[in-house]
Amino acid sequence: MIYPIVAYGDPILRKVAPPIDRSADLDLKKLVGDMFETMYASAGVGLAAPQIGLSVRLFVVDGTALNDEDPKSDDFDPSLVGFRKVFINAEILDEDGKEWAYEEGCLSIPGIRADVYRPKQVLIQYEDLEGNEHTDTFEGMAARIIQHEYDHLEGVLFTDHLPSLKKRLLKNKLAGIAKGDVDVDYKMKFAH
Ligand code: ZN
Repeated sequence: MIYPIVAYGDPILRKVAPPIDRSADLDLKKLVGDMFETMYASAGVGLAAPQIGLSVRLFVVDGTALNDEDPKSDDFDPSLVGFRKVFINAEILDEDGKEWAYEEGCLSIPGIRADVYRPKQVLIQYEDLEGNEHTDTFEGMAARIIQHEYDHLEGVLFTDHLPSLKKRLLKNKLAGIAKGDVDVDYKMKFAH
C-alpha cells in the first residue's frame, strides 16, 4: 500500500515521535513493507513514519541507487553499498567528524533543495524488524541519510538547519507548499 506523503505545514512533522510498542496491535512487517513501497514510489532514499502521518520512531532507507555504478569512480561511496535498512526505536548516541555540506531535499518539502552541514559520522542504536538491537557507526552519505530521517523523529526538518537569511528567502515557498502549491508525481497530504 502506498501512503500519501505528509506535506510541510502538517503539525505531525513537528512532533517528537514516541517509541514503537511491539506488544501493541500493529503489523510492523506490513507497515515497513508499505513504507519501502511508498519511498520507492516517490523516488526517495529515506522515509520516516511521521511523513506518512504516523508519529512513531521508525524510518526506512535505501541509498543504493544514489551510488556511482563504478567502484573506481571518485563519486563511489562505500557507505552506500547494501545500505537498505529499517531503523526502529533509533537513538543517536553520538555524532563526530568534520561537518560537510550536501544539497538535501525532502519528500515532504518538494521543490526545495539546499546545502545542509552535518557531522561526518553517526553512532546510532536501533532495533531491526526482528527486534534485534544494534549499535552501529555510519559515515558519509549513509550517515547523512540517517541524520535527515532521524531529524523527522525529533520534529526537525532540513530547512531548520539553514542560515536565517536563507530561511527568510524560503518562507513564501514553504507557505505555498503547506497550501498545496506543489508539482510532484507522487500523492501528498496537506494539513489545510
Ligand atoms: Zn525528509
